[in-house]
Amino acid sequence: MFSFSSIEQYQEQLKSGSSTCSEAIQFYLDRIQQTRHLNAYTQVFAEEALERAAFLDQKRATGEPLGKLFGVVIAIKDVIAYKGHSLTAASRILEGFKSLYSATAVERILQEDGIIIGATNCDEFAMGSTNENSVYGKVLNAADESRVPGGSSGGSAVAVQVHTCMIALGSDTGGSVRQPADFCGVVGLKPSYGRISRYGLIAYASSFDQIGLFGQTIPDVAKVLEVISGKDEMDSTSSRLEVAPYTNSLKYESDKKYRIAWFPEALEQESVDPEISQAIRQLLESLKEQGHQVEPVHFEYLDYIVPAYYVLTTAEAASNLSRYDGVRYGYRSNQPADDLTAFYKQTRSEGFGKEVKRRIMLGTFVLSAGYYDAYFTKAQQVRQALKDKTNLIFKDFDFILLPNSPSIAFPIGEKMEDPIAMYLADIFTVYSNLTGTCSISLPLFRHSSGMPFGLQVIAKAFDEVSLLRISDRLMRSK
Ligand code: GLN
Repeated sequence: MFSFSSIEQYQEQLKSGSSTCSEAIQFYLDRIQQTRHLNAYTQVFAEEALERAAFLDQKRATGEPLGKLFGVVIAIKDVIAYKGHSLTAASRILEGFKSLYSATAVERILQEDGIIIGATNCDEFAMGSTNENSVYGKVLNAADESRVPGGSSGGSAVAVQVHTCMIALGSDTGGSVRQPADFCGVVGLKPSYGRISRYGLIAYASSFDQIGLFGQTIPDVAKVLEVISGKDEMDSTSSRLEVAPYTNSLKYESDKKYRIAWFPEALEQESVDPEISQAIRQLLESLKEQGHQVEPVHFEYLDYIVPAYYVLTTAEAASNLSRYDGVRYGYRSNQPADDLTAFYKQTRSEGFGKEVKRRIMLGTFVLSAGYYDAYFTKAQQVRQALKDKTNLIFKDFDFILLPNSPSIAFPIGEKMEDPIAMYLADIFTVYSNLTGTCSISLPLFRHSSGMPFGLQVIAKAFDEVSLLRISDRLMRSK
């Protein structure tokens, strides 16, 4: 009989023969059916997943060596390419487009005997914080269906929240893994920039984008991270730094005392729900009691973070999204057009949603001749100042603790008419993308409304080992 508490336990079941990959897939396909109304998936690869499970069960029976992710059931955000399958970024403009190749992350999962069960819903081109900007419609948060699941990887967060897969991949450009994980009560990891190849990930803002992972436990997330990380010749920004044995490194955790920084400006920020700052303060207090060095660090840049992020990411997006012109990919307007420019305009006006258009215009504006220095150059300077400050902090500390979001998951529709309010709520997550550090949302807390919320832990770039270790410890002492 299939049951799941961790990948390790599941793989033990498979080895002992007390369960099969086919049973696992059947279980998850049933779960997907039962939770259909949440709208977490854009595609379910039912038949194919069953076939692959049967193939893997056969493989096990023959005694062949099994891959590290043998039988592991994974959903992927609909911005990650899977050869021969639709890839839409939840946008009309990619209607009918099928991937010609698989993302490196997907390739590596398949090589290690994982199973891809489906593609998950998201905000169009990963732009948003609520999953309301999707051509497939909104996703509901299972903890309270009148609330958003967060975004942009809302479908992936809900897919894990309601147990329709073991791990879901998302992408995190400014919080799109951590914030929905926070809103849905699951683990959400954003690795360091360059840890996982971006090959086959649809580009939003290339100097920020990173594939991230949702799971129920730290060891599960560590196991998949270990497989999909590492240098890839197809992505020049992927790092050559060695991939540490993340899973094993969790087994040898001593009771090391850490140096932990927190920003008073963040917890005192007026938009933060008092229950959220209270919960984090209490945790800081108890970490101190346990012997960790916990200290406030003055952080003077808080007000500059969101503007810098939106200037730089919209600039990169305007450039990246210029390729969707109706000629090469997906949707093409059938309205008559007098010339090529009119044709482009027509197709792009019909193919992109409101938020994506807003960002393309904003990005085009900040890159335009007369404004380039005032906006783009300035924002790059802010990014550099943030990196310098962050490097200094990590000389003295192992981790920075922050909220993920100023609020818990809010009601559907609440912020849709106010993009500035929506952008401002990204204040705590975009910092890690601006600086290329690794960060995670841990589902540690519950609000008086009954909703879950998480703690954000940030570690220096490429110190995933320490990040996972402290995370595992915090999750176990929950
Ligand atoms: N909410 C942020 C935005 O709208 C983050 C998006 C992301 O990480 N893809 O840009």
